[in-house]
Amino acid sequence: MNSKTMRAVGVLPMKREVRLVEHVTPQLSADHQVKVRALEVGICGTDKEICHFVYGSPPEGFEYLVIGHESLGEVTEVGSKVRGLKKGDLVVPSVRRPCPHAQCQPCRDERQDFCATGDFTERGIKMRHGFMTEFYVEEEEFLNPVPANLRDVGVLVEPLTVAEKGLEQVWQVQKRLPWIKENAPADARGTGLNAVVLGAGPIGILGAMTLVRHGFRTYVYSRSQKPNPKAELVESFGATYLSAETVSVEELANQVGNIDLVYEGVGLSKISYDVMKVLGMNGVFVFTGIPAPRPAIPIEADIIMRNMVLKNQLAVGTVNADRKAFEDAISDLGIFMKRWPDALKSVITGRFTLDNYQELLLGDKSGIKNVIALD
Ligand SMILES: [Zn+2]
Ligand SMILES: [Zn+2]
Repeated sequence: MNSKTMRAVGVLPMKREVRLVEHVTPQLSADHQVKVRALEVGICGTDKEICHFVYGSPPEGFEYLVIGHESLGEVTEVGSKVRGLKKGDLVVPSVRRPCPHAQCQPCRDERQDFCATGDFTERGIKMRHGFMTEFYVEEEEFLNPVPANLRDVGVLVEPLTVAEKGLEQVWQVQKRLPWIKENAPADARGTGLNAVVLGAGPIGILGAMTLVRHGFRTYVYSRSQKPNPKAELVESFGATYLSAETVSVEELANQVGNIDLVYEGVGLSKISYDVMKVLGMNGVFVFTGIPAPRPAIPIEADIIMRNMVLKNQLAVGTVNADRKAFEDAISDLGIFMKRWPDALKSVITGRFTLDNYQELLLGDKSGIKNVIALD
């Protein structure tokens, strides 16, 4: 192999191909840049959808997109103006980069997760190469330092940011309830509140950990009947697992009591709107999933609309994550690692090599979070 190139998993939408490509090894070209050696990259539903050409677009001038957006890496080289990182540091990059438009206030305010023009780019997803490769170069401002003791689980930072931003949205919207103590310690902010997580995939499990850590009485509502490994995992860190096959939505509501928060991590509309019917007084429903387009389904719109008014309810969608969500994810991951090291490590169900990309991305490899380890 030419030393100026390296191996990467590329998606070629025009040719409808997914294959290993020889990608130019990036070099530092500006003072604020950092060169990173990829250690691990997580595989998620977004990657699989890109590999089925649902979305994903290569950068200008390329016929392929290097995919991968859930990365843990190690700094190998820093530009002369980099202040906060040095060789050997562990880092997790964020995914979205701001749009170029002067009038886009969110992007100009470093909140490209709320980009108003839609012209943002995303590493490994939209018009920017990702991290499923050996090295990458990134601006320091988009890299988040990770403590060395999180080496084994740091690849979970990016998927955990979904819950962190979601929960931050909850606190923002619940400022409408003046008796909710804004300055309560993080452990206690959810005390006395009931949360239901929909789905027991990586987003659901990491979301449930976040809610338990913040003091919520937390239930995970997912399809498979007990006993099953995911049920055991969520119960090992203090959440209660209920199977949608044996517990109806009405029974769920009876068992939980007032449902203060629903955290949707399943990406399916039917179960989401069924559960929305039993959202409690002053409740918030957080959507994080992106369902594939399917034919229209009936929903009990009158009940839902009636409840939303009579119970002061709110539904909020959340996508992508800001710097604070990454910082919160890194700090919470440290807390999970102290409290539930075995549960946290078992979220990563398999480590593979770059050569396994086909079975991971196009096959039906099971597990919670599978990762490609590059070192
Ligand atoms: Zn992902
Ligand atoms: Zn923008």
